Amino acid sequence: MKSSLTYTQLKDAAIQYGSPLYVYHAEKIVEQYLNLLTHFNPATTQFFYACKALTNIHVLKVIQKAGCNIDCSSINEVKLALHVGFNPCTILYTSNSVSFEEIKEAVSLGVNINIDSLSNLEKFGAQYGDTYPIGVRVRPNIMAGGNLKISTGHDKSKFGIPYTQLEELTALQKKYALNIYTLHIHTGSEIKDVEVFLQSATVFESMLVHFPTVKVLDFGGGFKVPYQPGEKGTDIALLGAEVNQFMQKITEKLGRKLTAWFEPGKYMVSEAGYFIAQVNVLKQSGDIVFAGINTGLNHLIRPMFYDAYHHIDNLSQPDKPTQAYAVVGNICETDTFAWDRPIPAITEGDFLVFYNAGAYGYEMASNYNARFKPAQVLFENNESRLISRRDTLEDLLTLQTPLT
Ligand SMILES: *Cc1c(COP(=O)(O)O)cnc(C)c1O
Repeated sequence: MKSSLTYTQLKDAAIQYGSPLYVYHAEKIVEQYLNLLTHFNPATTQFFYACKALTNIHVLKVIQKAGCNIDCSSINEVKLALHVGFNPCTILYTSNSVSFEEIKEAVSLGVNINIDSLSNLEKFGAQYGDTYPIGVRVRPNIMAGGNLKISTGHDKSKFGIPYTQLEELTALQKKYALNIYTLHIHTGSEIKDVEVFLQSATVFESMLVHFPTVKVLDFGGGFKVPYQPGEKGTDIALLGAEVNQFMQKITEKLGRKLTAWFEPGKYMVSEAGYFIAQVNVLKQSGDIVFAGINTGLNHLIRPMFYDAYHHIDNLSQPDKPTQAYAVVGNICETDTFAWDRPIPAITEGDFLVFYNAGAYGYEMASNYNARFKPAQVLFENNESRLISRRDTLEDLLTLQTPLT
């Protein structure tokens, strides 16, 4: 059971909708979710899709119909989730550095909230006391994740209430009789090592004595997916088995039922996404052949921002013997997608596909260089449909006040 779209489906979509183009595969997203349900005990685990990875409402609808909950990073994501039809009790708002006004808005919308500073927790207590159950995000001082930009749990990270401030936290709990029902830890993205999640479990276990009202242990997201051919992602089967065992142990120890929450973003949508671009120009320079494509870091920033690897294939001529290329964008900026990369021999006009483009691809795209953002297409039951159109020049002007 490993669904993917074919070269023909992808190439036909590029011809039909134009390029650059983001293409998503609904069945693959559902498959990822079902794989989680297979390995984690559904009686003690719930999943919240971290939607900042990809927020198109048609994709959110696929996820909602599959029965998955949703994790939001901003109040606008909360509103998008409500728009799609997620029930407020299936929405989680994990805020960071937000104004208290935004937290009040989230309360009025009736969603789950994780608070990540003592300052906002104090304001929350003063306003709501024990009347609205609340989660707290803890910073465990664990270094984890693919690189420093996506590490969020270490001792210099801005995220969460430092574990070392446990006393201040419990003092606030007492002062306002806070109904703290969730302890939350999210240590970063691209965490391959199952052990990191078990370290969070240990931190939770040590904290629980101080939080008698806690019902949920939220382990955050960050499951790694394979980007390079042959690479391994997080071992979901092993993680599931370990977490199931931990949850059973902790339930027996405390004599009350606790639930584990996870917030996978990348895991849900990364592999279900494809980014297609067309080669405008081939340029030979010494040993290097540049393949200049009709997109840039404005549309897919991960290679430049995170040094991320995206596998690239030639959709137009996948069977050609490979040659080494430097794949570069069309932005006035050095936007190198890949260097010295073997790709089936390219002719100008060929379509290239970038794999793993579902997460943090379109979502981080911009109009830099006054380029249009790409269109997005969803395949469902082997049929494609447009789920957001390409920009037009009018779109670029629409927010600007007219010249008089
Ligand atoms: C970004 C984020 C996630 C998702 O991370 P992935 O690496 O995409 O799984 C989960 N929880 C929180 C709080 C986040 O900020």
